[in-house]
Amino acid sequence: MSQEELRDLVNQTKKQLEHLKALGVEGIQVSTATAPSIAAPPPPTAPAPVASEPVTSLFGDLAPAPVKLTKSSETFEQIHAEIGDCTRCPLHLERTHVVHTEGNRKARLMFVGEAPGADEDAQARPFVGRAGQLLTKIIEAIGMKREEVLIGNVNRCRPPGNRAPMPDEASTCKPFLLREIAVVQPEVIVVLGNTAMKNLLDTREGITRLRGNFQDYKGIKVMPTFHPAYLLRDPSKKRETWEDLKKVRDYLDSHRSSDR
Ligand code: URA
Repeated sequence: MSQEELRDLVNQTKKQLEHLKALGVEGIQVSTATAPSIAAPPPPTAPAPVASEPVTSLFGDLAPAPVKLTKSSETFEQIHAEIGDCTRCPLHLERTHVVHTEGNRKARLMFVGEAPGADEDAQARPFVGRAGQLLTKIIEAIGMKREEVLIGNVNRCRPPGNRAPMPDEASTCKPFLLREIAVVQPEVIVVLGNTAMKNLLDTREGITRLRGNFQDYKGIKVMPTFHPAYLLRDPSKKRETWEDLKKVRDYLDSHRSSDR
């Protein structure tokens, strides 16, 4: 096999493995008997791999090295000035205000929602309506004040009728949120509901499956949980949300850092 063919084969295999990983597959078995052409030859001094042994490091070997977030020296003012009177996506047509991320710019904890609703659009502040009032109670339930944390959304303009932002609307606005995250580098981000979770984690998994388990965004712990608007519709889900938030509180309590 030529070098080029080999490179192609490795690239295709990587893509397939990343796809499987996104579907939730955590490892696969490779037997040298069935896949002799991709099994790496053992180093001269190492024992040959046992054919039926699970190759648990396979994803690790082929996946790119984990990306760590680089601290940004931008300011929120610079980012917000660049957003300006934004017309980058159709959501600008019906909005009243662009709703920026607000709160403590040295926060250890950040909450990310989907997009502003009617109250947020009117007041130019995130999470100030009924769902926002519940979010404030959730924050206080873990012993923090709203002013201590950072609160933002994937999209900064209200979608008509409070529908979820379309993928292209979300991908147009999300980079600004990611730049703010790089400025603040919170220790934990709580993603509220499916849209926020899918956009931050780039996953196709649903909130019901991932909630309650810490995920990773470039070295930052991410806790997916239910959106407070959903809790207003189905209060029985508050119990699970409380369990998720206790994990966040316990993580922050056991990782106290002095530099904030
Ligand atoms: N829902 C959200 O996702 N964000 C807000 O700011 C308000 C309601």
